[in-house]
Amino acid sequence: MRIAVLAGDGIGPEVTAEALRVLDALALPQVELVHADVGGVAYHRHGHPLPAATLAAARDSDAVLFGAVGDPTCDALERHLRPEQAILGLRSELGLFANLRPAKVFAGLEHTSALKPEIAGAIDLLIVRELNGDVYFGEKGTRKLADGRRQGWDMMSYAEDEVERIAHVAFRAAQGRQGRLCSVDKANVLETSQLWRDVVIEVAAQYPDVALSHMYVDNAAMQLVRQPGQFDVIVTGNLFGDILSDQASMCVGSIGLLASASLGARTTAHGTFGLYEPIHGSAPDIAGKGLANPMATILSLAMLLRHSLGLEDHARRVERAVAAALADCILGGDLGGTHGTRAIGDAVLERLS
Ligand code: ATP
Ligand code: MG
Repeated sequence: MRIAVLAGDGIGPEVTAEALRVLDALALPQVELVHADVGGVAYHRHGHPLPAATLAAARDSDAVLFGAVGDPTCDALERHLRPEQAILGLRSELGLFANLRPAKVFAGLEHTSALKPEIAGAIDLLIVRELNGDVYFGEKGTRKLADGRRQGWDMMSYAEDEVERIAHVAFRAAQGRQGRLCSVDKANVLETSQLWRDVVIEVAAQYPDVALSHMYVDNAAMQLVRQPGQFDVIVTGNLFGDILSDQASMCVGSIGLLASASLGARTTAHGTFGLYEPIHGSAPDIAGKGLANPMATILSLAMLLRHSLGLEDHARRVERAVAAALADCILGGDLGGTHGTRAIGDAVLERLS
């Protein structure tokens, strides 16, 4: 099994290094690592934020562990040469269509949430967001109307098979969790959403062990704040998922703890090909200072073990070690603590049972 490691810019290399120490400690004999440049560092070395060799390394792997991209010295470059383009390029070139974002409030960290502690404490959910369709990729344009007013439009559209494949990802994720899936749409007004709902219901027949419910997106936004503990897995389209996943992140609060996965269609020997990254960026303000919290990247590694390598037990071991460190008040600056990157890595390593 091969993992491409794209550490990238800013705090990317620091947080990725700690995740790799955790991986090393798991002593998985079959795992091989391939390192490649991405983002600003790749631009400076090779003239492009996503060099062909990096893309090839990602393609030839079972999974990609990604740090972060972003480099203030690249701000003046043409758009296609900016570091952020690398992650967009990877998503499209690798056919990553499902974005998974867990949101969980760890015991003792209820105060980091924007919500009341007793409400926040119950948060343990996963948002599965479709990434390749919806208004972002529909026909779009602007024009001038006869009376001189300007008009703009973006078509929202989903094809049946696009909904089907994201639904399968979500049902499978629910099977590995509490077995509850809530599909979020706006089927009372949108045709796209009616199709979405119909297809999700059809797919549900293959997952009798998962309890499916439906919710309109406006209500879901409200429920995420009112009673987020009710959700296990949420599946939704690109636009609604974009908004709800950021909302869920703020319900958790701590940017240094949030992991993500973007899964593709290709299967690996033991799972699904995917790219795994913390949701935070390159954080140039603290880069190189040893202050970044590596837990989000370590938790992203856990997702990699689960979804791409089929190593559920190892994934849980890593997640338990992070939870144990947090329970022992090993907190980074993002959580009001004083522990640095390396100290947090050490603390997680010590707790890997
Ligand atoms: P980018 O442009 O790459 O997204 P950014 O400056 O927007 O970079 P973010 O990563 O989005 O940075 O972070 C926003 C704030 O949160 C920054 O002040 C950053 O220092 C802080 N932060 C981000 N990640 C971490 C982390 N892992 N540990 C501690 N603080 C973090
Ligand atoms: Mg940012």
